[in-house]
Amino acid sequence: MTIESINPATGKPIARYELTPASALPGIVERAHAAFLQWRQSGFAERTAPLQRAAGILRRNEREYAQLMAQEMGKPVSNGLEEVRACAAVCEHYAEHAAEMLADTPLTSDFTRSRVVYRPLGVVLGVQPWNWPFHQVFRMAVPALAAGNAVVVKHASNVPGCARAIEDVFVRAQLPPDLLRVLLLASADVEALVSHPLVRGVSLTGSGPAGAAVARAAGGKLKKSVLELGGSDPYLVLADADIELAARICTQGRLGNSGQSCIAAKRMIVVKDVRAAFEERFVALMGAARVGDPLLDDTVVGPLARRDLRDALHAQVQASVAAGARLLLGGAVPEGPGSFYPATVLTDVRRGMPAFDEELFGPVAAIVPVADEGAAIAAANDSAYGLGGCVLTRDVQRGERIAADLLDSGMAWVNGCVREDPRLPFGGIKDSGYGREQATWGIREFVNVKTVVVT
Ligand code: NAP
Repeated sequence: MTIESINPATGKPIARYELTPASALPGIVERAHAAFLQWRQSGFAERTAPLQRAAGILRRNEREYAQLMAQEMGKPVSNGLEEVRACAAVCEHYAEHAAEMLADTPLTSDFTRSRVVYRPLGVVLGVQPWNWPFHQVFRMAVPALAAGNAVVVKHASNVPGCARAIEDVFVRAQLPPDLLRVLLLASADVEALVSHPLVRGVSLTGSGPAGAAVARAAGGKLKKSVLELGGSDPYLVLADADIELAARICTQGRLGNSGQSCIAAKRMIVVKDVRAAFEERFVALMGAARVGDPLLDDTVVGPLARRDLRDALHAQVQASVAAGARLLLGGAVPEGPGSFYPATVLTDVRRGMPAFDEELFGPVAAIVPVADEGAAIAAANDSAYGLGGCVLTRDVQRGERIAADLLDSGMAWVNGCVREDPRLPFGGIKDSGYGREQATWGIREFVNVKTVVVT
């Protein structure tokens, strides 16, 4: 079987790739396990040298990889360059810090000596999406490798060139053969991989239905899973917010990666005192964002990754308008080839509309007007999701208290966009998943937390 990658800016095919047949999977897992048995015995210096080399390869070829992403899934090259640099930063971060993150923890007990050691589990499976086609794979695979595991990734079907390029980075970085595989695989074959006795855990980043399917398969085989799923992050614009700053942060948070980000600013929850001022400035900034060819350096919003995704987004906008939301900007499918969608702003959004209840994966912002701060917090938490969130206020102390104590989310920021950083744990609660990636919490997801006692 083959799959074809399609340029979403033109609708034209780019290349055709062979899928890995299901019959090849047992051999791939067995070879990864054999590579793991060697790798687990290596020291941190040996493990981290290929990661440092991978960082160098990424940095030297950043434009080539950014262009590949632009062609396969429409990411504007400026975003793609940031993504490649973020992958290099992930490699460097774990190369530098894995040893201290996984250093033994001495414990006090009645025995002569007791401690916890962190040992690798074996082959870990990653199931990854297309929206950050490089970074999602690096974010999952690099800490797992640094901890001594082997990694097999099933990548999304619309970014096969990226999948190949990532494997190639690690071949050139001289990671031992078979330790990391990035496969093109039918999603129907993922359950067989999860069930293989030598696969010890699975980490999926993607949609809720995919997460539930993979977690079911993992649970049925008593294997650990980590799920990084969707979000509908609320950005609370409080009465004392700096409106210019709030409008800029919300625009940046909504339009990054053409709006196709799990941690995008999706619901702007605005108290009534500042609603008019915020709407005016936000609509002006959203309307000024340049939509177009993702290969151009000044493009802010490229095409959506696939035409079916663009059409699904438009249907959500139309259903929200039919339910009483008002369009302040955009909302019409442009003519011409490709899967473009304009920067769009909906207001008067409330519970019961797709723009409030569901994830909008594209450049469509939902303004949710509320009476006051208490209503803003209630609306923020009135969501199936719980990934990130942000409080915009001049009273930083109050903002921090709302962020820390009152928002139901895995990540909460004050006066800034929620974003990735390998030094900060990343993940959500509720339908946004469970477990964490990044930082010490992430690298310890796929290790054996082992108690060692000398009596
Ligand atoms: P998706 O359709 O769920 O796909 C994600 C991956 O899962 C792909 O490799 C896909 O393969 C595979 N897959 C789909 N259904 C499956 C099944 N039943 N069993 C096994 N594997 C399956 O998600 P997407 O559209 O690519 O990504 C967008 C979603 O990911 C959004 O909801 C977004 O918020 C979320 N996301 C979350 C994070 C986070 O860190 N929390 C980060 C990025 C994205 P195919 O491509 O072959 O279908």
